[in-house]
Parts: sequence; C-alpha cells; structure tokens
Amino acid sequence: MNNSLPSNSLKRPEAILFDTDNTLYEYSPANKAAESAVCLKIKNLLGIDKITFYRFYNQAKIDVKQNLANTASGHSRLLYFQRMIELLGLKAQLLLSLDLEQTFWRTFLANAPLFPGVVDTLMYLKSINVPIAIVTDLTSHIQMRKLTYFGLEDTFDAVVTSEEVGSDKPDIRNFELVFSKLGISDRPDFWMVGDDPFSDIYGASSIGAITFQKIHSNVKKGTNLEKPDYTFNNYYQLLDIFKELIDN
Ligand SMILES: [Mg+2]
Repeated sequence: MNNSLPSNSLKRPEAILFDTDNTLYEYSPANKAAESAVCLKIKNLLGIDKITFYRFYNQAKIDVKQNLANTASGHSRLLYFQRMIELLGLKAQLLLSLDLEQTFWRTFLANAPLFPGVVDTLMYLKSINVPIAIVTDLTSHIQMRKLTYFGLEDTFDAVVTSEEVGSDKPDIRNFELVFSKLGISDRPDFWMVGDDPFSDIYGASSIGAITFQKIHSNVKKGTNLEKPDYTFNNYYQLLDIFKELIDN
C-alpha cells in the first residue's frame, strides 16, 4: 500500500468506478481452468491433443484480435472457438462453437471467486451514499452474467461495458457513458479502482481520477503516466484507505 497524496487534499468523490476482470476476482486461474475444460472437451469429442488445441486456439485469438482490436468482441470466446474450428478445417460447426463457449464460461465462473472484502467495500460505499459503477471491457452478456453470478446484480448504480461504446478502455467514452448514466457532470471528481495500468489507471487519470490499483500475482504497478495514486493488495486495505479518505 502506498499513499502518494495527502488525504486532506481530496474531495469526497462524486462516484467510484470499478473495473471487473482481475480487479474484483483473479482472472488467470479462472481463464486457465476454463481453457483446460474446453481442451478436454475437444479431446473427447474430436480426439485433438492438448498441444494442437492450444496452437489452434492461440492462433484463433490472434486472428480475432487482429480484426477487432480494442473492441469488446475482440475478447469474444465464441468468436475464438468459431475461428479455431475453422482453422482446424472443420468449417462451420455452430453448435460446437456454442457448446465450447458455454463450457468455457461455466467453468470460468466456477473458478472465479470474488476477492475477500469486495462485498464489504461495496457495502460500505453504499452505506455512505457514494455512487458506485462498473466500467469493464468485453461484451455485455457475459459481464452481466459474471456480476449476477457474483451476487452483485443490483449493487451498482451503473454498469458500462466496452460493447456499449464500441471501444475498450482507455477510450474515455467508457468513463463518460458511466457519468451520463449516473447523471453527473462529464468531468466529475471520481475515483477509479482497477488492475490494468494502461486501461484503468492511465485511462481514468487522464480525465482527472484518483486511482487505486489492485496488485496481486502478475500485476505490475504502473509507472509514469500509468502510475496509480494508491495501490492495495487486498480489499480490507482498500476499505481502510476509503474510510480514512472519505471520513476526512
Ligand atoms: Mg481488469
């Protein structure tokens, strides 16, 4: 944890925005488990081995991301699996693509527990009437499903996915759409909580946010323009920082 700003220099925020993936839960174990489940299914259904699966799956991701750089659909597992099946020379097996996507997300969610303290932190902010919102990359269907799975379906005052604006963070339209949904000015005093130095920390601080970066395995603290105002390793630390700053 670091406190780079004197707490008495901060105004009470008009809103606090949260990223979702790798901020409210740890992304890598969930993604890895989901890919393994799909790999096993492909092996059982088509007799394709693990090395071949990952070679074609990774190529499919590259192809999709190339066509859809920095958009919500660029992260679409349905498109990845469709492309992988095409690359495997199996043409258009739509039912299989849909089946693999279901397997992927079902396994992902089962392996994506919220970080301890997330709910306490959100409940604290609600109890003191600070508006809270989600600003997240990826398509709306799965992000709404994730938040519902987490039991947070009616916790936030607004939710924005990058599918709604056509471009991932740090595109500031993502933040502006949140402000519009919250009914606040388009350059409010707001705070941003996220893991990604570029998308979340640079993105939000470029329009004046106070930023809080969640640090855990494989997350590096941002530097220079991506440097957060605060870092935290767990949500109980963040809750303490919030209590200190907001009560001031
Ligand atoms: Mg993230």
